[in-house]
Amino acid sequence: MDKISFHLEKQVARFINPLKNNKLDSQEIEVRYDPLLGHQSVLNRDLKDKASILFPDTDKDYLLEVVKESEAHCFLCSGRWKDTTPRYPDELIPGGRLIKGEVVLFPNLFPLFEYHPVVMLGEKHYRDLNDFSASLLADALTVCLEFIERCFRNDPSAKYFTINANYLFPAGSSVVHPHLQIIGGPVPVTHQKDLIERSSSYHESNGSVYWNDLIEKEKKIGRRWIGELKGGCLITSFSPIGQNEVQIIWPSKRHFLEWDDGDVKFAAVGISNVLNVYHSMNFSTFNFSIFSGSLDGSDDSFRCMMRIITRQNVVPNHRTDDYYFQKLLRDEIILVPPEKLAEKIRVALAKSLK
Ligand SMILES: [Zn+2]
Repeated sequence: MDKISFHLEKQVARFINPLKNNKLDSQEIEVRYDPLLGHQSVLNRDLKDKASILFPDTDKDYLLEVVKESEAHCFLCSGRWKDTTPRYPDELIPGGRLIKGEVVLFPNLFPLFEYHPVVMLGEKHYRDLNDFSASLLADALTVCLEFIERCFRNDPSAKYFTINANYLFPAGSSVVHPHLQIIGGPVPVTHQKDLIERSSSYHESNGSVYWNDLIEKEKKIGRRWIGELKGGCLITSFSPIGQNEVQIIWPSKRHFLEWDDGDVKFAAVGISNVLNVYHSMNFSTFNFSIFSGSLDGSDDSFRCMMRIITRQNVVPNHRTDDYYFQKLLRDEIILVPPEKLAEKIRVALAKSLK
């Protein structure tokens, strides 16, 4: 029996549809189950007609207005971060902040975890999604890894870290200026805990690493396979937990302290390419999270992985894309089938690597 199964169930919703001459309409709904965690997402192919209502195109004029208005008093722009941002104590970071090229790491004024720095992603106040270069992302990730290493060296109880992004307010960000956030401390965040625990149970039951089995299987099936670079590979999620979700997997790295420059480069090229494709699909916002196992190396069955998703576009009074269905029922809606999304990104990635 297959160790990993891409299980789905079908349902049919029937109703008299005024949009179809009051005839009986039957819409098929596919419920997909994530092979590791079991979370569900639903695909109703008829919803594609409603996609432009659910995710209207970005209102560019409005966005530029918001950018202009916020730039004038942005605490990061024009070198203002030197005076406005907090600093870590010298025993953790001599000088208080980590700086590389245009990237600056400093503490969050209102932390949610013991270690919760913000990483300014370049000097530009606003970027379209096709303007996040691999070199800028590589500098940012290098700084993140240096921070994480310093924290663990200084405090070996701080074992669990994630590297995250909120871009623009529909994605949860309170500032326009591009930035990342690290969340770290003695306990994993909920999703990280789920991933680690389920990976461990899978290992116990099957004697192999879920992430390596997943890569092998997705590569063989091919429909959700995007590609592989030195360091890892990219796939779309069979059962995503956000819109247009791409997973990036580092098959030989259990945690962040095992990353080398090749892993950083792989991440940066992968993220930059995915954002380029999101841009070509008219999206203007995103979230991502990179998950690591325990920095003490105790999670042998886990491998570093990342989820990157699009969020609601920037329009005045945008509708949230995270309502009862996602937040309380904990299901997600699929608008672009993962197999179609993989095809788009596969083509773009192959072109960019030529
Ligand atoms: Zn700014």
